[in-house]
Amino acid sequence: RTKAVPLKRSEDNLRSPICCIMGHVDTGKTKLLDCIRGTNVQEGEAGGITQQIGATYFPAENIRERTRELKADAKLRVPGLLVIDTPGHESFTNLRSRGSGLCDIAVLVVDIMHGLERHTIESLNLLKMRNTEFIVALNKVDRLFGWNTCKNKPIVKAMKKQSNDVRNEFKRRVTQIITQFKEQGLNTELYYKNKEMGEIFNIVPTSAISGEGIPDLLLLLVKWTEKTLVEKLMFTNEIQCTVLEVKAIEGQGTIIDVVLANGVLHEGDQIVVCGTQGPIVTTIRALLTPHPMRELRIKGSYLHHKELKAAQGVKINAQGLDHAVAGTGLYVVGPDDDVEDIKEATMQDMKSVMSRIDKSGAGVCVQASTLGSLEALLEFLKSPAVNIPVIGINIGPVHKSDVRRACAMLERKKEYGTILAFDVKVTPEARELAKENGEDKKRETSGEAVFPCRLKIMPDCVFNKKDPIVLGVNVLEGTLKMGTPVCIRSGESEFIDIGRIMSIEINHKEVETAKKGQKVAIKILSQKIFGKHFTVDNELVSHITRESVEILKAYFQDDMGKEDWKLLEELQRDFKIDQIYF
Ligand code: GDP
Repeated sequence: RTKAVPLKRSEDNLRSPICCIMGHVDTGKTKLLDCIRGTNVQEGEAGGITQQIGATYFPAENIRERTRELKADAKLRVPGLLVIDTPGHESFTNLRSRGSGLCDIAVLVVDIMHGLERHTIESLNLLKMRNTEFIVALNKVDRLFGWNTCKNKPIVKAMKKQSNDVRNEFKRRVTQIITQFKEQGLNTELYYKNKEMGEIFNIVPTSAISGEGIPDLLLLLVKWTEKTLVEKLMFTNEIQCTVLEVKAIEGQGTIIDVVLANGVLHEGDQIVVCGTQGPIVTTIRALLTPHPMRELRIKGSYLHHKELKAAQGVKINAQGLDHAVAGTGLYVVGPDDDVEDIKEATMQDMKSVMSRIDKSGAGVCVQASTLGSLEALLEFLKSPAVNIPVIGINIGPVHKSDVRRACAMLERKKEYGTILAFDVKVTPEARELAKENGEDKKRETSGEAVFPCRLKIMPDCVFNKKDPIVLGVNVLEGTLKMGTPVCIRSGESEFIDIGRIMSIEINHKEVETAKKGQKVAIKILSQKIFGKHFTVDNELVSHITRESVEILKAYFQDDMGKEDWKLLEELQRDFKIDQIYF
């Protein structure tokens, strides 16, 4: 390839801004994406909207068309808007491009009926940390009681069609939410009242169901990025590209999905990406994008391109990408570049993550789908409340070698013989190996596992009051197992131990286990006396501990039903045992 002519950066040549959608669960992030993708879109004719790899592209023409009623017909300077398809923090935190975030602007979705919630605040903190511009979509306005639907209308027009009651309720809620933002140290205001944009963050009321406010959101996204991010949006020849996902495809090797944020990629470009085993230097064999909307259903066939210009989502086929790390930057080797320098640059992010590994040699292994999620997990494990050391990390599917590494820890410190795998596949061989090793552990720990159960003592079935106590009980919930330590409640979060179940009989036959609904006779080895320390009014429950819960979670997943887990969770609350996340 001939040397690229350096492009003169200019305000007249801008790339499309990249936007991601964040917010608490159930605020309507997915629906909002669907809505901006779908409004005014006829079957088979998408107004120029194109589905990309991991993102959706909205050409300026489409945005202009949909915002016509806002009478902001001044020319748009960006060619369009690229919206990342995966809503949530992941897409924001996981994707970096040359050390900084990939997204130029975010939409922070808040449910008008709920206000700020936990993930809203987490998202806010991420946005503040990265210094990323954002717009608040105050979603679900249609849920205000008595809302008069005005499909796809600008919000001010829609508000005019509402009764006084609705408008007052709207005002009340907006004021409340603005106050909540203030408590987080941020000034916000309805965008059409905002006189100090830049100082005060914009709120756009929306409905992802009936489309009110969607034109406003689209226009503001584009106008605001054009206004504040011109420098960042100037088109350059310098590649800014992020690996979204690494996928092994049968018969084709490994393919990577990337978002090209700036520059041009060519077939035949020499690229360098970060790999778990070191930098990967390879050559682009094919640049692929999906077919336009209409043909999206044709599976497995993509359009080939000689070159592609930012910003867009692209599939790259090249050799040797097996160990590529999702969430890191992709570099192109230019004619004047030193490959060695670039190799080092690609590994920077990985190195900073590696440096967090515990040096003591005892700890768990952690595996995640992207560098960003791995980082988040490591941070979580390190936090004082959790404090679990990590000795090994990897990105991508769990292979046999990963299991071997974790098994080595079983000898040193068995509770660390664990792989915490987040959003990754486990190969069948790895699963098999883990199971073999796990079976041994299961046998070893079976004495320490406590299955959750709740037992009701049957009044006429007290056969022996002490040493050992023999009672007829009804299994109200959970699973009753031999060896289970049982206790009774004696107030808020206080329990009195009764003893261990020594035998279980159904119709005079000894059994190992009894299920919910069964009536059984049990023998309890106990220092306590029935009638003195407890009566038929006391329910017997399993005495669980943090350790016993960990053992259940680690080795007895297959032996526990859905209801058992539910009961366990309730007991955990009663016994004040923190959530255990694996
Ligand atoms: P996410 O978890 O943030 O992606 O939320 P979803 O998009 O899955 O939406 C959660 C629920 O809220 C779904 O049942 C949606 O149909 C509903 N929903 C989302 N947006 C709106 C809205 O603007 N109005 C109303 N009434 N419901 C909505």
